[in-house]
Amino acid sequence: MPPSRFASFAIALPLYRVFEYRIDDSEPVVAGTRYRLPFGQGTRTGVVLGVSDSSDYAAERIKPIETRLDQRPLLGEHILELANWMAEYYLQPLGEVIFQCLPGYLRGARAHQSLRVKRWRLVGSDADAIDRLQRRSPRQFEIGRALLRQPDGMTALQMKQINPNWLAVVRTMEDKQLLRWEWIDAAVSPVIASEMPRLSDEQDAILGEMEPRLQHFAVHLLDGVTGSGKTEIYLRLIQSRLADGLQVIYLVPEIGLTNQLIDRIRQRFGDCFATSHSGLTDYQRYQAWDRFRRGEVSIMLGTRSTLFSQCERLGMIVIDEEHDHSYRQQDGVRYHARDVAIKRAQMLDIPIVLGSATASLESIANCERDTWFRYRIDHRPTRYPPPPIQLIDVRNSRFEFGCAAPTLARIETHLADAGQVLVYLNRRGFAPVVMCHECGWQSQCQNCDARLTLHHSLQTLLCHHCGFSQAIPETCPDCGHDEVKHYGVGTEQLEQGMRSRFPDTPVLRVDRDVISSRDALKARLQQLQGGEPCILIGTQMIAKGHDYPAITLSVVLDADQALFSASYRASESLAQTLFQVCGRSGRGDRAGEAIVQTRFSDHPLMQALLRQDYREIAADLLQERRLLGFPPYARVVIFRADALELKQAMAKLEEIKALLVKARHFERLASIGPIPALMTRRIGRYRAQLCLLSTDFQVLRSVLSQAMPAIQEIASSPRVSWSVDVDAPDL
Ligand code: ADP
Ligand code: ZN
Ligand code: ZN
Repeated sequence: MPPSRFASFAIALPLYRVFEYRIDDSEPVVAGTRYRLPFGQGTRTGVVLGVSDSSDYAAERIKPIETRLDQRPLLGEHILELANWMAEYYLQPLGEVIFQCLPGYLRGARAHQSLRVKRWRLVGSDADAIDRLQRRSPRQFEIGRALLRQPDGMTALQMKQINPNWLAVVRTMEDKQLLRWEWIDAAVSPVIASEMPRLSDEQDAILGEMEPRLQHFAVHLLDGVTGSGKTEIYLRLIQSRLADGLQVIYLVPEIGLTNQLIDRIRQRFGDCFATSHSGLTDYQRYQAWDRFRRGEVSIMLGTRSTLFSQCERLGMIVIDEEHDHSYRQQDGVRYHARDVAIKRAQMLDIPIVLGSATASLESIANCERDTWFRYRIDHRPTRYPPPPIQLIDVRNSRFEFGCAAPTLARIETHLADAGQVLVYLNRRGFAPVVMCHECGWQSQCQNCDARLTLHHSLQTLLCHHCGFSQAIPETCPDCGHDEVKHYGVGTEQLEQGMRSRFPDTPVLRVDRDVISSRDALKARLQQLQGGEPCILIGTQMIAKGHDYPAITLSVVLDADQALFSASYRASESLAQTLFQVCGRSGRGDRAGEAIVQTRFSDHPLMQALLRQDYREIAADLLQERRLLGFPPYARVVIFRADALELKQAMAKLEEIKALLVKARHFERLASIGPIPALMTRRIGRYRAQLCLLSTDFQVLRSVLSQAMPAIQEIASSPRVSWSVDVDAPDL
């Protein structure tokens, strides 16, 4: 028997530790390989991190592994190194981070079988031999004839379209040595389109500047107004990387991955790309992951976690709309995909390109550092500039379904001029408030500190946080008054109003209540492509990523809420949303217009909007952040806890705080809390938080590294759970 060896494993558990098992296998044990391990009463999957000939424990006290799942390691050294960095930087359990890097399909006990595809070809190209089959074996003849026309062969999928029972037929033909199969292993070569738009002078100059900087790591920020041709620049950069035989990861926000973009990439490069996003099944995402890994495709296009795709020859990472909130993972392992991508690019010494018309303040501040390059594009390559933004002061206005009279007049004019109109309202449902005038009763969720939203089509009051619903009361549940009223306007009501006001114009609504899948979204937006006048109503889903040239008017209803939000990031988000929404119009061969309804037209942010310059607003906001000592000039770490009772959550954070206070230099940090979270009760649980803030990141790191080992010992259970969020998006 070979001497025992001991391997340490990462297991997907919210525990800050690794697990040791015995391996008697005489084959080499390679980090990144998955094994099945006995664990408690059952088994679990673990990823090997390292191996050693000795252990601190007696050999017989260490359990042996059960089985090996992979012949070769699934996670390469580089990804393991990245995972280690993430675990350390974001203070997340290594096991969870490592499993995050695997496609969901492989996180359990499934074996990895490379998803190569078989292809059948004719052994000879003897047409007569095939013809001879016609009488006796018409089904063989049918497939043979199809193959004669396809000298490159056909896949199972293609055969199935000819004959659903193709397999039996093909087996017979194989036996007769008419056919043979092979793996399709070859890379799908890019087919570069012959027609491309001529670059504008600005695009051309930027590419010229970037090109010599692409041999090594650097962060490039494309800071170009909406519709300025940033995507065109990514495509040209990708083309040059592919020409060098390299592969590229292209990240887009969850709602930015439109069919338009996919079509554009296919048109430019053919089928040499794979996509991965939350609209696909685990299996489909795994297929994409595997195709990229084997080098079958050169471009991996997808949302946040696509960042962890592996390949042999990664040559660039692109992050479109880098300011988008969906790059931040908020549950489970908390990380920011943009920041991890930058780290990854640095580790591989490759370039990373970020793009946005409304760059995050973090990125703008980082451009002051000399390793970041910022490129401005001030003009659209198409005829018209981004539309000027007009404010419509609605302080004393009467509203019809959320729109003031001047707003409706503008909409009418644009429709009459055969334009398409986009109306942005970030609130779904019919009305956000239902209340009794007699006693002040309001519809409240029984699980959350939140109001229930009235949904007409569902005939219910619905909580947008936990999904709780109840019937619409006919009389007040508190005082019995015979009338309850609703206030405010959501997209459902807006749609209804628009339909009756503009009966001859198609009204398309896009929000989570009516659009359940990517295909549904595609179908709905198809109508815009025709260019006929219509009204597009929607929430965040329509705010970015779309490029419909016939839209001539963008309208933002109700932008005011964010002006008085408790979040220090609200102004930044609002400015980003307003510029993005307004930037949807005037992209084609007609000038666009953009209007924003507000009760606070004197507010500095609203006034800055009029000056048209997101960069100016961003500079002002950065100045403010600097004065207040907020990110990006400070770092934020938040400990959160949630429990069935508030006092349990608070107590858990007191326990954590006691350990932090003991660390040297704790007094040099600002600490807030523990305090109840803004929405204290959510989905039936009470939430509290403890926030640490410092302009000196070294001090913050040092306090955390002293205290974390003890904090990590504090149990987190379903009854009272805690988590930590580094670079938390809020205070
Ligand atoms: P962004 O990514 O900055 O929003 P896009 O690359 O999507 O901008 O470009 C906006 C529109 O302008 C698209 O319809 C695109 O096809 C078009 N476009 C981009 N570059 C050029 C160019 N050089 N010449 C003509 N049209 C262009
Ligand atoms: Zn009442
Ligand atoms: Zn609720």
